Amino acid sequence: METGEDCCVKVAVHVRPLIADEKLQGCKDCVTVVAGKPQVQIGARSYTFDHVYGSTGSPSCNMFEECVAPLVDGLFQGYNATVLAYGQTGSGKTYTMGTGFKEGFQTGIIPQVMNVLFNKIGTLKDQIEFQLHVSFIEIKYLTTAFNCEKILKEEVRDLLDSSSMSKPETANGHAGKMASHGKPPIQIRETSNGVITLAGSTEVGVTTLKEMAACLEQGSLSRATGSTNMNNQSSRSHAIFTITLEQMHKPKNPNDSSLNDTMNDEYLCAKLHLVDLAGSERAKRTGSDGMRFKEGVHINKGLLALGNVISALGDEKKRKEGVHVPYRDSKLTRLLQDSLGGNSRTVMIACISPADINAEETLNTLKYANRAR
Ligand code: ADP
Ligand code: MG
Repeated sequence: METGEDCCVKVAVHVRPLIADEKLQGCKDCVTVVAGKPQVQIGARSYTFDHVYGSTGSPSCNMFEECVAPLVDGLFQGYNATVLAYGQTGSGKTYTMGTGFKEGFQTGIIPQVMNVLFNKIGTLKDQIEFQLHVSFIEIKYLTTAFNCEKILKEEVRDLLDSSSMSKPETANGHAGKMASHGKPPIQIRETSNGVITLAGSTEVGVTTLKEMAACLEQGSLSRATGSTNMNNQSSRSHAIFTITLEQMHKPKNPNDSSLNDTMNDEYLCAKLHLVDLAGSERAKRTGSDGMRFKEGVHINKGLLALGNVISALGDEKKRKEGVHVPYRDSKLTRLLQDSLGGNSRTVMIACISPADINAEETLNTLKYANRAR
C-alpha cells in the first residue's frame, strides 16, 4: 500500500448502491465518490480517506486486494491484524464482511481471506507445518435486573458452541454466573506477555477451507437476533471471527540435531480478527422501549471506546509521547487489545448508504472514520 506505510490504522469507505427498498421509497443518491481520488462528498462536505470504494468510484472488487490481502500476508510474518466493518444498520457491514449466512457469503471479506490463506498454505506446506484455529464470538449488550435496578451488561457469547445453539436466551438467564446453557461465561484474559485470550470459548482446529467455511456458516446462523424497527438482524452486537495461524518450520534433515536449538525461533503465531460491528446509529433511531434504548446507548459506548483507541493509535505524535490508549473501556477494545496498535495492522471499513434519508447517519459515520485516520 502506497499511502502511510508506517501508520498502523488504515481507513476505507465502502459506499453500497441504493437498494430496492430505498428506491421504492423514492430515495435519492446523496453521496458522490470523487473520480480518481479516495474522497467522498455529501452535501457541501468532503472527506478524504486511504481508500474509497463505491458504485461510481473505484470498484469494490479492489477492496480485498488493497485493504485485506496485505494483512493476510502479514499473518505469515507473525503480525496480528484486525479488520473492522463500521456503520449504521443497513449500511452493508455484514455484506462487506461476509458474516451473513446468505448475502455476500461468497464475495465478502471473510470467504476471500479463507481462499487466500489456504492457497498460501498450499504453496508453503512442504517447508512449514501449519496449525489453524477459528473462534467466532459475539459481544452482546443486555439489560438485566440487579438490586431492583436495571443495569447494562456486556456479554461474550460463543457462536461456535453447539450446545448453546437454538436455545432461546433471556436477559434473566444471563443475570447469574452461568450462561443460559450452564457453561461459565467467556472471560477475556491477558497473559503475562500481553497476549489476549478468551477463556472458555470454542477454538475449532481446522485443516481445510471447507472446515473453516463450516465454522463461518455455523456461527453466522447462530448469531443472535434482536429486532428493532430498522433491521431484524443483529444490529446491537459485535460479531468477531478470529483466525489463529501457527507456523513451525520443518527441519530440512530430521537427523540433524543442531536444528533443534533454532526451532524456537522458527515458531510464529499470529491472529486475524474480522469484526462485523454493531450498528452505529444513535439510540433514538431504534424507536423502541426503554430497555432497547439503554442497550443502544451502551453499544454506542462500546463503539466510542473503539473510536478513542483508534484515534489514539492513529495520532503519531501522541503515540511517540506514549499517551495512554484506553483499551479497558469496553470488552470490544479489551478483546482486540493485542491486535490493535503495536506491531499489528488495522483496517477500518466504514460502510455507508448513499440514500438521502440516511444522510445524517452517513455524515456521523464519515466523521467517526475521519477521526480514526
Ligand atoms: P448491515 O450489516 O450494516 O446492517 P447489510 O450487510 O445487512 O447491512 O446490508 C443491508 C442491505 O443492503 C442488504 O439487503 C444487502 O444485501 C444490501 N447490500 C449491502 N451492501 C451491498 C452492496 N455492496 N451491493 C449490493 N447490495 C448491498
Ligand atoms: Mg449486519
